[in-house]
Amino acid sequence: MPHYDLVIVGTGSGNSILDPRFADWKVAIVEKGVFGGTCLNVGCIPTKMFVHTADMAAAPAASARLGVDAELRGVRWREVRDRIFGRIDPIAEGGREYRMRHADNANVTVYQGEGRFTGRKEMSVSLAEGTETVTADRFVLAAGGRPTLPAVPGLAEVGYHTSDTVMRIEELPASAIVLGSGFVAAELAHVFASFGVEVTMIARSGALLRAEDEDVSSRFTELAANRFDVRLNRDTLAARRTEGGVALDLNGPTGQETVEGDLLLVATGRRPNSDLLDVAATGVSTAATGHVLVDEYQTTAVEGIYALGDLSSPHELKHVANHEARVVQHNLLHPDERVAADHRFVPHAVFSSPQIASVGLTERQAIARGVRYVTATQDYAGIAYGWAMEDTSGFAKLLADPVTGQLVGAHIIGPQASTLIQPVIQAMSFGLDARDMARGQYWIHPAMPELLENALLNLPLDPPTEMP
Ligand SMILES: Cc1cc2nc3c(=O)[nH]c(=O)nc-3n(C[C@H](O)[C@H](O)[C@H](O)COP(=O)(O)OP(=O)(O)OC[C@H]3O[C@@H](n4cnc5c(N)ncnc54)[C@H](O)[C@@H]3O)c2cc1C
Repeated sequence: MPHYDLVIVGTGSGNSILDPRFADWKVAIVEKGVFGGTCLNVGCIPTKMFVHTADMAAAPAASARLGVDAELRGVRWREVRDRIFGRIDPIAEGGREYRMRHADNANVTVYQGEGRFTGRKEMSVSLAEGTETVTADRFVLAAGGRPTLPAVPGLAEVGYHTSDTVMRIEELPASAIVLGSGFVAAELAHVFASFGVEVTMIARSGALLRAEDEDVSSRFTELAANRFDVRLNRDTLAARRTEGGVALDLNGPTGQETVEGDLLLVATGRRPNSDLLDVAATGVSTAATGHVLVDEYQTTAVEGIYALGDLSSPHELKHVANHEARVVQHNLLHPDERVAADHRFVPHAVFSSPQIASVGLTERQAIARGVRYVTATQDYAGIAYGWAMEDTSGFAKLLADPVTGQLVGAHIIGPQASTLIQPVIQAMSFGLDARDMARGQYWIHPAMPELLENALLNLPLDPPTEMP
């Protein structure tokens, strides 16, 4: 039974841990799928490559209000798809080949198979050629998560897609049902609708993206209803195959109804892979959500077993997984000078149309936590670049402590929100207060960040107290 200094399970962010400082370590990597994990192969990167293309496809329709009559003549789906995966697939394969190459990774053994714990620090890996059991002094669990499926009778039989499969389909459907109302649903609905697919979105609750600040979520829901057939407050009773595709029977505010589409995308959430990894066999504990429980050093309840990324983080974001991988890397190399992960100001973006970006507390969270705050909003329509774009729906909303001026949260819905929010993330991370941020620097005129400058100036902060 081979014994290692370190076994890493999962090659998403887990694959970034090894560097020349581990050259003296005997290491194994266990990967059951394609190298590179969710973000590279079926997550952030392909979706954003599709979203950018979708933004291009949607531009002609949006340009009419500026007096430009443009026309979308077509979308060559297979070309779009093959361009995107023609770039991604070789990167994933290159990552695998690099790790397999003895010259670069003489100390690393790659096990291409599914790992499952059989003991405290013992894992059995199912390989094409049989099963191998490995033991190690240390494990890094970076096994990510997977899409969940709702318990809808008939769903398994109708032929559905998840984000794992839908980006590689052969033909664009004429119509698609998107079951779900989170960020994956919002991004892929935008992609398909921009490519000319008729989209029906089904949400169990009364709003789309309801984890966002309420003002943002309700504005997005309102705008989405102009583009898609949005059905809110719906329970899905059953799924059936039809001649051309799929039908879902729904129960909603006005009774029962049926929606039909050529393709069904199920985007109702994700869960961590801790169950498939059988982490219980190690003594590692998990939350009710299935996330592996870790402390601030990313260590689990079992000494020498670390976890990171979607497997342990409720944020389920790539920049968080990467940050945690750097923390684990440091703590493996310097067990006597460990560093803690920093989860104070974790931002996220939704790359739909419009874009959304957020950091810190929503107003609802600030109220629930009894945090002292004031809030200010600035519409894109009120800044010069917003006039240029004729934007009528976007805004930035800030929350700040009225006494200290420290920013508590920021929420932007509108063009380039994911880029615009970065100065706020910086201000919150480094403790820059709203007054200094607004007036302690130049803001390029008439650029989009004036949205933030004005929002900062709109904050009804207490007058600064004079020092005696
Ligand atoms: C459609 C979509 C869009 C997204 N967009 C964004 C975005 O724009 N921005 C953002 O920050 N995040 C985004 N995410 C989330 C992001 O992809 C994840 O947070 C990130 O990939 C998590 O990295 P990870 O290393 O924790 O896990 P993963 O990248 O999922 O890696 C886990 C690896 O472990 C392997 N594995 C699992 N179980 C086993 C086992 N038992 N044995 C061996 N190997 C195993 C898997 O095959 C996989 O390769 C998106 C996700 C999806 C699904």
